[in-house]
Formats: sequence, structure tokens, C-alpha cells
Amino acid sequence: MENNKVDTIKDYVNNNQTGNKDASAESFPDFEYAVTGICIGCGKCLYVCPADCIVHDGVPYYIDASKCLSCGSCRDVCPVGAVSVL
Ligand code: SF4
Ligand code: SF4
Repeated sequence: MENNKVDTIKDYVNNNQTGNKDASAESFPDFEYAVTGICIGCGKCLYVCPADCIVHDGVPYYIDASKCLSCGSCRDVCPVGAVSVL
């Protein structure tokens, strides 16, 4: 992902009370991402998720859809292709 997009998402996360959501929604498609059963629990997705919405209290991990920004970073970084678009 381009750094400016990551910055935009982080800006949205950090300012989600100030009306930036609309701009973010225009920038990123409204895909729904989900972790599938082949997740190996490596943790790489935790480091790239700008919304801190990947739950890791067991394997496979799962995504808190209510907080996910659909940025796709977890899917890009996953070494086993465990993140799917619903
Ligand atoms: S798509 Fe993945 S990295 Fe992006 S916000 Fe959702 S769970 Fe986090
Ligand atoms: S990067 Fe992929 S395999 Fe690793 S914890 Fe996240 S979803 Fe699971």
C-alpha cells in the first residue's frame, strides 16, 4: 500500500470523531475482509492494521468488522493468504 494511503487511514483512525470518515470511505472500497481457517497465527497482520481490529486471542485470528477500515493491509502482508474478501 502507498504510504500516503496508510497515512490517510491512520489520520482517519486518529480523528474519527472529526468527520474524516467520509473522505476515508471515498478512498477505500467497502470490501469486507475476514481471516480464514488457514491462518497460522504469525501475527504479521497485527503490525500493519491501522485500526487495531484484528483479534488474536486464539488461532485463527479474526477481524472485528465493526472497526475494520477495509484497507487491505492485512491481506497484503499475510504469508499464507489467509485473509479473504467477502
Ligand atoms: S483490512 Fe485488515 S489491516 Fe485493514 S483495517 Fe481491516 S483488519 Fe485492519
Ligand atoms: S498474517 Fe495471516 S497467517 Fe499471520 S496471523 Fe495474520 S491472518 Fe494469520
